[in-house]
Amino acid sequence: MPETLNVIEPATEAVLEEVPRAGTVEIDEAVARARGAFPAWRALAPAARAEHMRSLVTVLEANLDELALLEARNAGKPIGDARGEMGMVVETFRYYAGAPERLLGETIPVSGGQAFTVREPLGVVGLIVPWNFPLTIAAWKLAPAIAAGNTAVLKPAELTPLTAIRFAALALEAGIPEGVINVVAGPGSTAGRHLVEHPDVAKIAFTGSTVVGRDIASRAAATIKRVTLELGGKSANIVFADADLERAAAAAPGGAFGNAGQDCCARSRILVEESALERFMGLLEEHVTAIRVGDPLDPNTEMGPLISAGQRDSVASFLADGDPVAFAGTAPEGPGYWFAPTVLGPVARSSRVAREEVFGPIVAVLPFKDEEDAVALANDTIYGLSGSIWTRDGGRALRVARAVDSGVLSINSNTSVRVATPFGGFKQSGYGRELGPHALDAYTEVKSIYYSTR
Ligand code: NAP
Ligand code: MG
Repeated sequence: MPETLNVIEPATEAVLEEVPRAGTVEIDEAVARARGAFPAWRALAPAARAEHMRSLVTVLEANLDELALLEARNAGKPIGDARGEMGMVVETFRYYAGAPERLLGETIPVSGGQAFTVREPLGVVGLIVPWNFPLTIAAWKLAPAIAAGNTAVLKPAELTPLTAIRFAALALEAGIPEGVINVVAGPGSTAGRHLVEHPDVAKIAFTGSTVVGRDIASRAAATIKRVTLELGGKSANIVFADADLERAAAAAPGGAFGNAGQDCCARSRILVEESALERFMGLLEEHVTAIRVGDPLDPNTEMGPLISAGQRDSVASFLADGDPVAFAGTAPEGPGYWFAPTVLGPVARSSRVAREEVFGPIVAVLPFKDEEDAVALANDTIYGLSGSIWTRDGGRALRVARAVDSGVLSINSNTSVRVATPFGGFKQSGYGRELGPHALDAYTEVKSIYYSTR
C-alpha cells in the first residue's frame, strides 16, 4: 500500500494535498499516546479541563476561515455552508466546555449509610467519522469525550482528512496537553479496523454507513467495547394538505439536497397528501430548478459536487431504475463529480429509491391518503433518523411526531441538528445519542458508591 494518501478536491478532480497514510502501527502509537495522557487529563480539576476547552474555542475561532476553506475544498461544499459548519464546531466545544463542572451524580436513599453516583471517564476512546461533515461530526464526538476526561484517537475518512489534521495542530497550539487528542488518517479497512479491535480502546463512537456499523459492533464485541453508532437514514418529509405549502416547498430542497444530499438526515422521501400533490409539485419545481450548483468557493453557490466518482456512480444507479423523473435542476460539466438535483415521482412504495439510502441529490415523492397512511409510510423503512411534518393542525403535528419511529423530528421546519439537543437514530439508524446533555452518557460510566455510616 502506498505511504501517502492523495487527497482529491471533488470540484476539480485535482490532488489537493498528499498526507501520510497511517496503518496499524500508527494506530498503536496513537493509542499508546492517548493511554499515556489519560491519567493526568482525567485527574485535572474540572475547572482546569473547562479552561483548556475554552482556550481551544478561542484558537478555533481565530482559525475559522482557514478551516472553512479547507473543508469547502476537500469535501466540495459551498463555502457558506462550510463556514456555518465550522461555526457549529466552535459552538460544540463552547457548549461542552461547561460540562466538566456539570458531570452531576445522584444521592440515593438506602439504609445504613449513604449511596451516591459519580461519572467516570472510559479511558481511550476511538472516534471514526465519515467524509460528509468531516470536522463537524468529529467535534460532536471529541468535545464531550475530552470534557468528560477521556483521551481520544480520531480516524477521519480517507477522502477528507485535512481539517482533522489541522485541528490536531490547533489543539496543541491551544495548550491541550499532548496525547489528549490524536488524529490518525488511514483507511477504514486497516487503520479503522485496528482501532476497533484494539484492547486498550474502551469505546468506539462511529458515524457512517449501516454496513460498516454492523461490522464495528460485531468486532467490538470481542473486547466488550462500548459502541455508539450513527448510521444511515431514509427520512420522511411529510406534507399535509393543510400545511403552508409555499413554506414547505421552499424548505424541501434544503432538506433533501443540502450537502448535495450526502447527509444522513436528508429527507430523501417527500410524502405528500394526495389532494395537495399537484400544487406542491408545481411549487417545488420552481425551487429545485433555481438551485445554483457549481464552484464551492463562489459565495453564491448553493450546492457543490459529490465527494467522488464512486459516489456519483452509486447515486446515478438510482436513475437507471426507471422511476419517473418529475423535474431536475442543472449541474456543470466535468471535471468535478457533479450531479443535478433530481426529483423522482410519484414513486412506487416498493421502488428502490423509496427504500434505500441514496446519499446524493435525488429525492423520491410518494403520495399518501390520510394521516394513518402517512405514519405507516413514514415508518415503512429499516431506518429512523430524522424527518419533518408540515401541517397547520397542532394536534396532528404532535400525534404524527409521536407515532413516527425516528430519533429526531421537526415540525414546520427541515432542520435536524442543534448543539443543545440530542441527536441519534431509532432502528437501523444506530444507537446512542450525540450532542446535548445526552452525549455525556456516551463517554462516561456511572459508578455507584456506598458509604457506611455505622
Ligand atoms: P463508511 O464507509 O461507513 O465510512 C465511515 C468511516 O468508517 C470512515 O472513516 C471509514 O474509513 C471508516 N471505515 C470503513 N470501514 C471500516 C471498518 N471496517 N472498520 C472501521 N472503520 C471503517 O461511510 P462513508 O462512505 O464515509 O459515508 C457514507 C455513509 O455514512 C452513508 O451510508 C451515510 O448514511 C452514513 N452517514 C451517517 C451519518 C449519521 O450521522 N448517522 C453521518 C454521515 C454519514 P475510510 O473511508 O477512510 O475507509
Ligand atoms: Mg466507505
